[in-house]
Amino acid sequence: MAFQGLAERLQATMQKITGKGKITEQDVKDMMREVRFALIEADVNLKVVKKFVKTVSERAIGQEVMKSLTPGQQVVKIVKDELTELMGGEQNPIQFSRKPPTVIMMVGLQGAGKTTTTGKLATVLRKKHNRKPLLVAADVYRPAAIQQLETLGKQIDMPVFSLGTDVSPVEITRQALEHAKEEHQDVVMIDTAGRLHVDENLMQELVDIKELAQPDEIFLVVDAMTGQDAVNVAKSFDDALGVTGVVLTKLDGDTRGGAALSIREVTGKPIKFVGMGEKMDALEPFHPERMASRILGMGDVMSLIEKAQANVDEEKAKELEDKFMNQTFTLDDFLEQMDQVKKMGPLDELLKMIPGMNKMKGLENAQVDEKQMGQIEAIIRSMTPEERTFPEKMNASRKKRVATGSGTTISQVNRLLKQFEDMKKMVKQMSGMAGKGKKKKMPS
Ligand code: GDP
Repeated sequence: MAFQGLAERLQATMQKITGKGKITEQDVKDMMREVRFALIEADVNLKVVKKFVKTVSERAIGQEVMKSLTPGQQVVKIVKDELTELMGGEQNPIQFSRKPPTVIMMVGLQGAGKTTTTGKLATVLRKKHNRKPLLVAADVYRPAAIQQLETLGKQIDMPVFSLGTDVSPVEITRQALEHAKEEHQDVVMIDTAGRLHVDENLMQELVDIKELAQPDEIFLVVDAMTGQDAVNVAKSFDDALGVTGVVLTKLDGDTRGGAALSIREVTGKPIKFVGMGEKMDALEPFHPERMASRILGMGDVMSLIEKAQANVDEEKAKELEDKFMNQTFTLDDFLEQMDQVKKMGPLDELLKMIPGMNKMKGLENAQVDEKQMGQIEAIIRSMTPEERTFPEKMNASRKKRVATGSGTTISQVNRLLKQFEDMKKMVKQMSGMAGKGKKKKMPS
């Protein structure tokens, strides 16, 4: 995952200091030396590292920390606060125009993820903000780029405005704005041309589009995997164009995190969203505090809850709960529950959002076995509806059939059936205890 190296090093450093009842100036110095190395290793901009180390040191050596009863924890809190500040402090929402349409210009180098992000952001605007975006294909240099946006538009069922490659981007923008007004599309998203490197012609073209369209937002899309390069690119675009926010893509890859930690400080512009995958739903608002929490291993419960709320169908959840309580829970329901959990994303990523999870014995390197989940799914899918409802009907020959059908072994089938039985027993006990305020953990 992104930030893994940095997270591991910072957490190890923080752990050393947390438990101390007394902290000397030397302790803080030692800690900050390690923090400094960790940040440099994560490809954080050198100036940013220096400033960060200075601020944290000054605060940590301050009287109120040294004299407090829990100096170690105070220091960790300072590190977290300053990491949050470094990444921009508060979450920064989209600015909508009071007079529709809101105009959003998407800019960035080729391959950064501009077109993909345009689609993702349009999806967010429709789903969360109830808007009707119009996507505008303004990259007239690459026919493939126009085609890509059109394909994306079809995929997410969103209108795309394009005039091919013979009309200038400024003219396309002008006509798109008129079209949006006529069609009552309340957001216009302009997917501009990218280049392999920052160049003057490109910047001039973007400035021309900006002057005409007077955008409410200019989002610069940068690839987190390019580290310090992303920061330099952000600076050039911002100097020429004045961007209003940054979208950092590919944070699902194993980037060291330098870009995320430096961009705000170097450009003064907030990261508004982060791309967490190639699919259309993989765009998240960037919350500096939550990210700092995650980096320091304090978990990110808010994001976890939001993911659950976005993906779990409440009615279905209630239905499942009732089934649990009435003990009419079948293997089909089990399968459905697994599907709901899977929708939330890779399990090991989810585990990391739970505070302290990385410190629990035996779970330090928890690798959730998605292969095993796949096998469970295959086993249940190879059973008949009757068998899924009444698993006790599974005799030796049925088990053999299911094992063959699912590409597993009879002992794997047996294990699943036993787990399911145990779960039912546990539910029975729990419902017996209901009302007494006692809770038991479910077996995994
Ligand atoms: P553009 O040239 O800037 O328009 O870039 P594209 O939108 O065509 O994206 C370039 C590649 O990056 C495509 O293969 C995308 O699927 C991929 N991509 C974009 N955003 C993300 C992201 O957040 N995570 C991952 N893993 N891939 C991404």
